[in-house]
Amino acid sequence: MKNLLRITCLLVIVLSSITANAFVLRVGLKDGAAEITVSATSYFDLIDMHTNQVILTTYGWRNYRIEAENGGLSVEGVGTFHGPIILVPMSNAFGKVDNQTYRGKLEISRTNGNRILVVNVIDIEQYLYGVLKCEMSDNFPIEALKAQAIIARTFALSNLKKHQDKGYHLCPGVCCQVYKGVSAESKLTAMAVDQSCSFVLSYENNLARTYYYSCCGGKTAPFIWKEDGKTPYLQSKNCPFCKHPRNSSYSWTQRISFYEIQKAFSTGEITSVSIKEYDESGRAKTILICHSGENSIINANKFRTVMGYTRVKSTLFTLHNDGQGVVFNGTGYGHGVGLCQWGARGMAEAGYDFKEILGFYYPGVCLQRIVF
Ligand SMILES: [Zn+2]
Ligand SMILES: [Zn+2]
Repeated sequence: MKNLLRITCLLVIVLSSITANAFVLRVGLKDGAAEITVSATSYFDLIDMHTNQVILTTYGWRNYRIEAENGGLSVEGVGTFHGPIILVPMSNAFGKVDNQTYRGKLEISRTNGNRILVVNVIDIEQYLYGVLKCEMSDNFPIEALKAQAIIARTFALSNLKKHQDKGYHLCPGVCCQVYKGVSAESKLTAMAVDQSCSFVLSYENNLARTYYYSCCGGKTAPFIWKEDGKTPYLQSKNCPFCKHPRNSSYSWTQRISFYEIQKAFSTGEITSVSIKEYDESGRAKTILICHSGENSIINANKFRTVMGYTRVKSTLFTLHNDGQGVVFNGTGYGHGVGLCQWGARGMAEAGYDFKEILGFYYPGVCLQRIVF
């Protein structure tokens, strides 16, 4: 099978729409804190960016509390400053906010309502060091981790406007990508970032939509959030790679009582639940709920959201009623669009490299190196 899988093209070109500035990311670590503490793993400077004056040079053993006041930012034992204040660690040191350690610089500013915003100003490659293990286990093979690093880099660069009204590009939560700084780094994930340095996926010279999820359950899903129709690389296809002895989510069973569904969707007394429509991958598209002589049709993804992603792990399921509830027998974990992470692991273990993995899950995309 290996010979049948090829990435469609491998190019090295400059993406003109991305400027050099985009590679210094602004990650909003804290937005709305009443107070914070800062320190570092070694010497650091605090600089008031309003006056460009160094207000403190110290060793990082002690925490300095910073609070927002009407007049500015009060740094415990140092004074009150207009701000923003930037924490610049000396070479090889890392800044800390509330005892969490981050590469790059920490920018602290006062927001409306006397709250504190902390932004981690960081090179995108260093940011990815703190992302990768949060999004894929570092016991996955290096080629799968390299594929994940490329889609995480592409995702970050294509979502720079997500929080622009708040003064930063990305947040550190699941709304963007989970980022935990230095504490989430490992040797293997750092190696995956370094070995895939500056590679992104594109389609027609725009950054590709690099959706991913844990496990497709044997067949990936078609793109369900169609906006512009320019995503032919997000199509349903068979995935023979994710059925892995260690993958506990490949198949799952979940029972949910009629009463719970009735409460969640405010229906009358439920008599039966069934699948009304399927999508082209065999996933449930709509669910029919019969209750008190009436019928309600609910989008299957909404059903999954409301009942909980960890309980209804995917919409690739069959179901049967047991009188008082519904028993779901499903495969896969996640929405199913784009790269299947357990499939990437299976491919890597079968000897495929990251280019072949990406070419399999995003057929027709280009691998490009961003030059800046
Ligand atoms: Zn976000
Ligand atoms: Zn799969």
